[in-house]
Formats: sequence, structure tokens, C-alpha cells
Amino acid sequence: MRHHKLALCEEHYLEWFQNQTERAIRKYRMFGRDDRVLVAVSGGKDSLSLWDVLLRLGYQADGLYINLGIDGGLGYSALSFQKIETFLTDRPETRLHVVDVVAEYGESVPQTARRKLRGRGKPCSVCGLIKRHEMNRIAQEHGYDVLATGHNLDDEVAVLLSNVLHWQVGYLARQAPVLQEREGLARKVKPFCRFYEREVAAYALIQGIDYIYDECPYVEGSTTLFYKGLLNRLEANSPGSKLQFYLSFLRARKDGLFSEQMEQVELHPCPVCGQPTSVPGPCAFCRLWNQQPATSNQ
Ligand code: SF4
Ligand code: ZN
Repeated sequence: MRHHKLALCEEHYLEWFQNQTERAIRKYRMFGRDDRVLVAVSGGKDSLSLWDVLLRLGYQADGLYINLGIDGGLGYSALSFQKIETFLTDRPETRLHVVDVVAEYGESVPQTARRKLRGRGKPCSVCGLIKRHEMNRIAQEHGYDVLATGHNLDDEVAVLLSNVLHWQVGYLARQAPVLQEREGLARKVKPFCRFYEREVAAYALIQGIDYIYDECPYVEGSTTLFYKGLLNRLEANSPGSKLQFYLSFLRARKDGLFSEQMEQVELHPCPVCGQPTSVPGPCAFCRLWNQQPATSNQ
């Protein structure tokens, strides 16, 4: 690891990785041993490694898999779920929640996106909306204190670059390792936010975690992928650049650079699903299916 000026054998790498995760959890006050954590798992290296590390560290971590109904010629969603099932065979005590979007709402994510976006563009905005809603719904319904995702440093830095290039100060104010809970919204944490993607892949490989190598077919050609390529070139020329960019941002954020933008918008419960929304009437998720509040006859 050139950026850390550190080289480790397999045994000590696993130990280092787990210790670093624990340090991040404590440093950013993500959760404690009494908290119930819901890990969003996709079958990829990041989320399965996160779940593995949290269990090894003794946290109460259950999983949530959302079947998005994405095929892309590879059977992407089916293959992702197979990897999660393999993961669970070695950990039979572990609990997994499954949300099947097609069974629950009658349409796969690509179908909903085609209908909503009239065939224009990728389904990612619709997909993100559905995932956020369903993750929060399951966390609330089952009384989890925290929602954990496997975002790594490369993910975070690509988002950071995009937010800076467009000066999205509202998004910058909300980009953090921890987003605190508030009325009806579970706390969200990213314990791997300081690990390079390669470091997580190395952990999965050494630990023998079988994960899906292919990314979702809709990642291909995305702006995020383009930014990741640019940042990789920067990192190759100057090892440690990504980490420094991210940590300096977090310091500036902590020092109040975006304090004005941190003021929270007012939320109220959606009249259909009850989840918090900032807009009047049904939330964006319920509007996807044109759901209206139930009318009373009284
Ligand atoms: Fe959803 Fe795939 Fe887009 Fe990710 S890349 S947001 S999983 S459609
Ligand atoms: Zn709603």
C-alpha cells in the first residue's frame, strides 16, 4: 500500500483491515456493540466484506438484500443473490431480510425506470430512490438503529469530485461517513469510507469471500466510472491523492465550511407510506406508482 508506505502479509493484512474498520466506527461514532445494524448487501465485495468484518468484530449485524430485478444478459440480480446465499452457508446464525421489488411492487427497477423516464437515460436515479426507501422501511419496521453500506474511498471520492465540479454545496454538506437519524429516518453509516477499493478487494480475496465480480450492467458508461478513471490516473501519479482529497474535505466540513447548507429541511410523513418527505403530498417513492392517500368515507 504505497499511500500508507506499508506492506503486510496476508495474516497481518486481515488484522490491519479489521482494526482500521473498528477505528473508523469509533472515530466517527457510527454505532456501538448494543446497536442493531442493518447491512445493505448486494453480493459485491464491499458489502459482503463489511458484513463479514462487522460479524467478526462482534457487532449485531443483519443483512438486507433488495432484488432489483436486473438481468442485463448476465442474470445480475440472480447471481448477486447466489453469492449472498453462499456467504450465509458458512454463517447459518446470521439473519437476512430480502425485499423482492417485482413481487412487492409488480415491476423490476429497469421496467419502472423505462415507464417513468419514457425510455430515456439509465435507471440509476429511480433505482437509488427505490433502494433508499426500502432500506429505510426495513430498518424502521424491524427496529434497527443503523443502516450500514459498503461505500469505499473510491466511491466517496468520485461523488466528491462530481459535487465539487458542479459546486453542489447542499450535497457536499450531506456527504459524510455518518448521517444522523432524524424523524423517521435511520442513521446511515459508511464504515469502509477510508479504504481504497483495492484494499477491500484484497480483504475479500484473502478472507475467501465469494462475491460477484461483474458490476451492475448499468454502471457501464456512467459519469461515476469516468470520474473514477480520472482519479485513478491522479492516484497513479501521486499515491495517496484520493485519501488526502477525502480527508481534507472531511476536515473542512467539520470546520464548518458548509455549515449554512447543513440546516435541515423540514420533513413530514408521506400520507401514503408514512416515510419522511420534504415535499407536500405523497413522497417521490409513492409517486413512482401513482399511489394516493386512502380516502376516508366518514
Ligand atoms: Fe441501480 Fe445498477 Fe444504477 Fe447501481 S448502477 S443505481 S444498481 S441500476
Ligand atoms: Zn410515500
